[in-house]
Amino acid sequence: MNAANENKPLASSGKCPICGKPAQPEYNPFCSKRCADVDLNRWLSGNYAIPAVESEEDDRDEDDREA
Ligand SMILES: [Zn+2]
Repeated sequence: MNAANENKPLASSGKCPICGKPAQPEYNPFCSKRCADVDLNRWLSGNYAIPAVESEEDDRDEDDREA
């Protein structure tokens, strides 16, 4: 019999609400920092849609490459 299993943390009974993967205790209830950030951004932006990145900066690069 091995007692090694005692060191193994039981998997949380929850899934990541973002991507549905098993939640990691470290990032409970998410599976990773990335998903935690996604959820955080939802709260910060006050709505449930992922905020689109402003394309302003992208437009600049189009013709400004010569510099
Ligand atoms: Zn996830």
